[in-house]
Amino acid sequence: MTQKSSGRKAPVARGKAEKEIKVKAEIALPRSLTVKHLADLLGTTPIEVIKRLMRRGVMASINQAVDYETAAAIASDLGRKPELQPEEKAPVAKRMPVSSRKAKGQKPRPAVVTILGHVDHGKTSLLDAIRHSKVADGEVGEITQRIGAYQVTVDGQKITFIDTPGHEAFTAMRARGAEVTDIAVLVIAADDGIMPQTREAIDHARSAKVPIIVAINKIDKANADIERVKQQLAEHNLLIEDWGGDVIAIPVSARTGEGLPDLLEHILILAELAELTANPDAPAGGVVLEARLDNTRGPLTTLLVQKGTIRIGDTILVANAHWGKIKAMFDHEGKPVKSAGPSVPVEIMGLSKVPFAGDIFTVVANERKARARVEEFQAEQQIRTGKSPTLDDISSQIRAGAAKGLDLIIKTDVDGSIEPIRRSLERLENEEVQVRIIHAGSGSITESDVMLAVASRAIIIGFNTRPEPRVKHLADSAGVEIRGYQIIYKLIEDIEKTITGMLEPTYIDVLEGHAEVRASFAVKHGKIAGCYVTDGKVSRGSLARVLHNGEVVHESRVSSLKHFKESVPEMPAGSECGIGIEGFSDFTIGDIIEFYRKEKQ
Ligand code: GDP
Repeated sequence: MTQKSSGRKAPVARGKAEKEIKVKAEIALPRSLTVKHLADLLGTTPIEVIKRLMRRGVMASINQAVDYETAAAIASDLGRKPELQPEEKAPVAKRMPVSSRKAKGQKPRPAVVTILGHVDHGKTSLLDAIRHSKVADGEVGEITQRIGAYQVTVDGQKITFIDTPGHEAFTAMRARGAEVTDIAVLVIAADDGIMPQTREAIDHARSAKVPIIVAINKIDKANADIERVKQQLAEHNLLIEDWGGDVIAIPVSARTGEGLPDLLEHILILAELAELTANPDAPAGGVVLEARLDNTRGPLTTLLVQKGTIRIGDTILVANAHWGKIKAMFDHEGKPVKSAGPSVPVEIMGLSKVPFAGDIFTVVANERKARARVEEFQAEQQIRTGKSPTLDDISSQIRAGAAKGLDLIIKTDVDGSIEPIRRSLERLENEEVQVRIIHAGSGSITESDVMLAVASRAIIIGFNTRPEPRVKHLADSAGVEIRGYQIIYKLIEDIEKTITGMLEPTYIDVLEGHAEVRASFAVKHGKIAGCYVTDGKVSRGSLARVLHNGEVVHESRVSSLKHFKESVPEMPAGSECGIGIEGFSDFTIGDIIEFYRKEKQ
């Protein structure tokens, strides 16, 4: 490959050249041109060109230049008759942009791949098959243990596979702030087609803006129907290459190994297109993939290095919360290693605590620095809430001109409700504010929905569906708003109010308790009711309604609360106390006082 593209200032004859291609099979090629330009001239995709280059042992990315001989070989492969374009007519091959990898010590790094898809479609089998196909190749040694990720070598290039398949783990990591994956392989069983979790996986990958490559699995089965899967993909806006789109779909069988080399080759192509780079000399950092406690060796943690290089003896700070020194380090085959660079997964010994998957780590100069950072972070945490926004928050941000979009996750009781809601919401969009439905599905609201909401700062809308208490609890502690609706127009109205900045918080009354009036005493500024708290509790300052014969005769708040002579903040059920109600003195024995508070809905 050469890069003789600069310096030529001849007029562009490209339009003419392109016209000629359409008429005859001859093609005039300049002495040097980029992959993208070659693809344009050949009327094909850069992926196709890169694929063919790879088959010829040339690794080139989309903006890299290839020389005439190489370009001519590809043109011949595609049935063209190449000829060297005379120098004076040569089109200006696009000047190679200063590749990002050249900047600041950036070097190419292996792609990190996660496998997503519906349960039982073969994610685990595929990960095993890829791992074992490479063992059979003799390219890696015997696998002794799983550490949460592994690497394979294909055509001299490495690929890192995350060994925890499924979008739950993928999104849980994102929710903790970790963007680990470069490429998502979406596994779809050819005998089953796109299923609910496939749809979820697509949405989760899209929300992470990760390129998707589809593996149509189980093609060895008699009832495999590859065409049907392709059709379904198109229905989900994933138009495959053969049909003019840009989604790569590879038929494979995890059982027989068919198609696996093709899948791996395409992963390399996508990686090549993405020009994945990292600086191995930068300050090191990355993500915790997995961690466990070993009885004798203490916490064993799998780290994926994302930048820099980690070494034995380094002080590792995890999630700004705890730290340790790397005492020993093993690669994915269990072999001891001394250092690990970008995209390399390693298991380390030496942390003092077991971290969470998705925790971010950094290497710091020494333990003193680590301790200082932890203290700093804890102080910051007290100020920052970090929670996802609520509809009210977004409405006021829009009012203030600070928000431009609203991200929603919509869950409905039945599939049929999704489209009407989606259509109505799409109609609401205006020029300033975009409504993005990052995931829609039917069924109850799940942990995975909450994780996706955290990861994408979205709000969950439940239409005739509710979260289980466990999920509600998770959402509350993660600060994710779940809004429930039973009527479509009310849902749409609230979203409309939100995007016009008109949504005001709505409050509901939360009952705190009742007391019965048993006596009434005159005091300096009015009257006090001698009461018995029948249920719940009464607190000073809480809102109160006085009920006479079941009818509300007054509403205000508890102005004084006394136990004997002493002022108290609160009295529980079963106790006697003196209660003053703001602006009210007309107590009758037998009246009931109801205590409540207002809570944002
Ligand atoms: P996961 O839930 O997506 O991880 O799916 P698994 O890898 O556990 O596979 C589910 C089932 O499908 C298992 O019984 C596998 O043996 C089977 N399976 C996976 N891949 C293939 C394949 O390519 N062909 C056939 N015939 N069966 C497969």
